[in-house]
Amino acid sequence: MQKRGYKAAVISGLSSLMLSTSGLLMAQQLTGDYPIQPVAFTQVHLTDNFWRPRLDTNAKVTIPYILQKCREEGRINNFLVAAGKKKATKLTDFPFDDTDLYKLLEGASYSLQEKYDAKLDREMDTLIQIIGDAQEPDGYLYTFRTAHLAHPHEWIGTRRWEKDEELSHELYNCGHLYEAAVAHYAATGKKAFLNIAIKNADLLVKTFGPDKLHIYPGHQIVELGLVKMYRVTGKKEYLDLAKFFLDVRGPGGDVYNQADKKVVDQTEAEGHAVRATYMYTGMADVAALTGDKSYLHAIDTIWNNVADKKLYITGGIGATGNGEAFGPDYDLPNMSAYAETCASIANVYWNLRMFLLHGDAKYMDVLERTLYNGLLSGISLSGNRFFYPNPLASVGQHQRSAWFSCACCITNMTRFLPSMPGYIYAQDEDDVFVNLFVSNNATIKLPATEVKLTQQTDYPWQGKVSITVDPVKSAAFALHIRIPGWAVDKPIPSDLYSFISTTKPAVPVYVNGKKIDYITDKGYAVIDRTWKKGDKITIDFPMEVEKVTTIDSVKADKGRFALQRGPIVYCLEGADQQDSTVQSIVIDTNAVINAVYKPDMLNGITTLTTQGYIATREPKSDNALTAKHTITAIPYYSWNNRGSGEMEVWIPYTADAARPKPQPTIASKAKVTSSARGKLMTKAVNDQFEPADSKDQSTNYLHWWPAKDTTEWVQYDFDKAYTISESKVYWYDDKPWGGCDLPASWQLLYKKGDEWVPVKNTTDYEIAKDKYDSVQFEPVTTTALRLVVQLPKNDASGIHEWIVK
Ligand SMILES: [Zn+2]
Repeated sequence: MQKRGYKAAVISGLSSLMLSTSGLLMAQQLTGDYPIQPVAFTQVHLTDNFWRPRLDTNAKVTIPYILQKCREEGRINNFLVAAGKKKATKLTDFPFDDTDLYKLLEGASYSLQEKYDAKLDREMDTLIQIIGDAQEPDGYLYTFRTAHLAHPHEWIGTRRWEKDEELSHELYNCGHLYEAAVAHYAATGKKAFLNIAIKNADLLVKTFGPDKLHIYPGHQIVELGLVKMYRVTGKKEYLDLAKFFLDVRGPGGDVYNQADKKVVDQTEAEGHAVRATYMYTGMADVAALTGDKSYLHAIDTIWNNVADKKLYITGGIGATGNGEAFGPDYDLPNMSAYAETCASIANVYWNLRMFLLHGDAKYMDVLERTLYNGLLSGISLSGNRFFYPNPLASVGQHQRSAWFSCACCITNMTRFLPSMPGYIYAQDEDDVFVNLFVSNNATIKLPATEVKLTQQTDYPWQGKVSITVDPVKSAAFALHIRIPGWAVDKPIPSDLYSFISTTKPAVPVYVNGKKIDYITDKGYAVIDRTWKKGDKITIDFPMEVEKVTTIDSVKADKGRFALQRGPIVYCLEGADQQDSTVQSIVIDTNAVINAVYKPDMLNGITTLTTQGYIATREPKSDNALTAKHTITAIPYYSWNNRGSGEMEVWIPYTADAARPKPQPTIASKAKVTSSARGKLMTKAVNDQFEPADSKDQSTNYLHWWPAKDTTEWVQYDFDKAYTISESKVYWYDDKPWGGCDLPASWQLLYKKGDEWVPVKNTTDYEIAKDKYDSVQFEPVTTTALRLVVQLPKNDASGIHEWIVK
């Protein structure tokens, strides 16, 4: 098809850049934009049974719930104090807490546009008034400074902006303010919120720039917000400032927030995953709007690094909790996977932009994988319980929360969900892209004509999709229908993951009932013809259950496969298995898997069942497999909606990859209690999972963080009286990153009648890391043993395993 307009401008701009002989790609201002434009979510109305109910729950449950939590948790009070309407000696925990209200308003705006709610509209006006009252006369808006507390938060510094490169988050707050204000203006046409944002953005323009203050945003997002402000106001200085905030980063700063190198010199995804991915998204925006090819080169290279080496099968990114960061290449641990919900949302933002730049379906493959799995797992089916990290394995230590003091993931989810219909279609002149498969009605204006598309499908449970094409008048245009990578044996666009069986024929496509030959371009079936009212396309995606394996470089998935059907990644959850046990299950690679739709289970899911084995730890031999059991898998996103319990995505196909059920010991049969805060952690100490070393986070452990310098305990109540004379402890120690160190001292007490009496030790209480520390004592006969731990002065301590003999 012929390319006209914007795209031509961008292409000519890029080629003039490529022809520049200096070798230095200077910033060039072009009046261009993304060659492909998304079809706005306001043009797309969902009619399906998968996403529609999630959006309804977001509107009916999540938004009112978060509004209530923002009130209870002092988020609104911060603004009232800053405005001088209330007195306080302390605000909430973090200087970025203002963004929770902004993100709520952004989500509520999208939701309002979808379905009008007069009460919500009025409530938003009141909140916007409160925000405006907290703004300083020159436009500065940051409640933690404006409140002028006697003891300000230690992160904010004495002067504006001076600590933004570290932790003040002043510019981060600005970014979310802009995104919210633009959404509110687009939804309601009211300018009150937008004017607050403009006043603030104008202050930034006055303050920062090449010949003004040079500070880079410590937590990126202001770049994205400024681009949105540029789009809505047309003020080019906002776009220039977004570019300045990217160009002013590095070198010489921290990897943690991507300031160690100039952004155009970065080649790998490193540091804090949410900051990084917001930055790549901002770079894509600025590249599209300015034609800066050096940005494109950098984000293309970084994208390959993620797709090749740093992407979970769930689409999650940011493997480690140490700095909430991308880990090293191929380091994708399952139980300790961080895969923050915000990082999944950022990954969707980024991959949409990469698609809009390049028109390649591979970006939508990553987007779809993230959307249906690692992102959606962040919110419960009920709409009011949340995950911050999204692990791929659990022994029961994980549970969804009603709130986090750092509530980023919660409010991010509520702003993302109502915008989901905006990811289904895109267009480039008379080329229409069908990227996601969801029942909906959409209206798209093309140069050739206006067209109504009606999708009908039971995706993701069924592979059949029909699209009725209703142009206002018969016209020639091309429909590009994405053929998902998983439908042609390419689960992701790299060799990181592959299917065990790869035998799929081409996906059949029918027009008006007749099977057609189609050409495939960048992952799309292209149907270029003259369309008339009522033309109907039918696609039949194969919905076989696939077993996915990882390349050998990923040690965490050795000897294991994952189950995937359509876009959905599966997991085993304790609630569906015999004895609620998951970690000991083994399934053959050639096991036959049956898919059954269960309308009443977890709001309607397709379950997978098969025959597997349970590995049991035998006293004298290696693992032995016991008799066959029926094993059931559920979609990963739906786990932990029935309480906490065991879970895993990567299922062992060899017994030595499994974690066998514990051999019965005095400890394993004991009831465990502890002074530790999280009761789910107590299972760790007698689960017989051997850590690789003291800092190993791939197994469950018990810890007392954030306590320090206190006396803590953990206790075994035995199933009967035993005579014991030895005990061993394997300490958890995650220094220098974490807050757990070896204890200052420890001691054992045994129960004698109603009293706790110290054992008479005959050896010292050892204290060393990366091994079992033992103590021997004069034999005692008792029904309970208590381990008393004195925490070090400045840290907590923790325990991997505690053995009694
Ligand atoms: Zn988050």
